Amino acid sequence: MSVTYSIVAPIYNELENIPELYRRISAVMDSTGETWELVLVDDGSTDGSTDKILELARADKRVRPVIFARNFGHQIAITAGWDYARGEAVVIIDADLQDPPEVILDLAKKWKEGYEVVYAVRAEREGESWFKKFTAAAFYRLIYRITDVKMPLDAGDFRLMDRKVVEVLKTMRERHRFPRGMSAWVGFKQVGVAYKRAARVAGVTKYPFRKMLKLALNAITGFSYFPLQVATYFGFASAGLAILAIPVVIVMRMSGDGAFTGQATTLIAVLFLGGVQLISLGILGEYIGRLYDEAKGRPLYIVRESPENDLPAP
Ligand code: UDP
Ligand code: MG
Repeated sequence: MSVTYSIVAPIYNELENIPELYRRISAVMDSTGETWELVLVDDGSTDGSTDKILELARADKRVRPVIFARNFGHQIAITAGWDYARGEAVVIIDADLQDPPEVILDLAKKWKEGYEVVYAVRAEREGESWFKKFTAAAFYRLIYRITDVKMPLDAGDFRLMDRKVVEVLKTMRERHRFPRGMSAWVGFKQVGVAYKRAARVAGVTKYPFRKMLKLALNAITGFSYFPLQVATYFGFASAGLAILAIPVVIVMRMSGDGAFTGQATTLIAVLFLGGVQLISLGILGEYIGRLYDEAKGRPLYIVRESPENDLPAP
């Protein structure tokens, strides 16, 4: 069976949102008059979302459930969506309806014009705290500055990608992932479409500060050596400072006015450099840990129920 559109929604405890998600996506996709499927990736939900997804899949063959064995994280759920989607165009959308399904029509229009990646840009955000908006804005700008890939500002994972692009992304099996960066990295003809990001329909965000930080680290380490270079810059700067300081200290000591005696100056210098060294070690550790994870070569995710298998009885 050939499918034109695959809509992929990662789901982690979104029980109240699933019926509305299904209803709005069906309405929008039916209006295109083309074939579509809805790939619902259950990322280890514990609130009954899993049963709800299976129930939808039993009632509508276009709903294809991918049920993870545990929570693997949003980025990995998106990856499974790429793997299982069969459509000519693949759309990633949040399950909480912050990305209005109606915008898919705008994305599809650009795709029909020949663009291979159509990302949705958040022109406005509703129902999010100033803290979230501020950290998000700062994050996109930091990433833009320090990485070599020019990722579009204020664009999340909500985007449409052509089959060609998805096939390339499927070969990129890195463990610590930043999907929106990966989809910018591959190139192809890309374009943005502005939209208004809505408030969540129900439930709370599954992205506490800790997870946002982890995502930011994936983005930075995955696309840049900048943190490693910072240690080098710091090393040169403090070595340079030391070379300049040595004659100054000698002259001042010889002049006999008691400058630089006592332990306080020594202590400050030792603590400062000790701190810098430990931070540099930590940065190195961050990259080495990631290397270690890659070396283990474990599967990215484990699937309990896949759309290829028969659905379990209710
Ligand atoms: N999500 C997921 N696994 C996780 C966390 C989130 O699949 O570990 C899903 C979540 O169900 C939602 C999407 O990722 O569909 C975006 O999450 P959320 O709305 O909580 O993030 P926010 O919009 O607040 O940044
Ligand atoms: Mg959300």
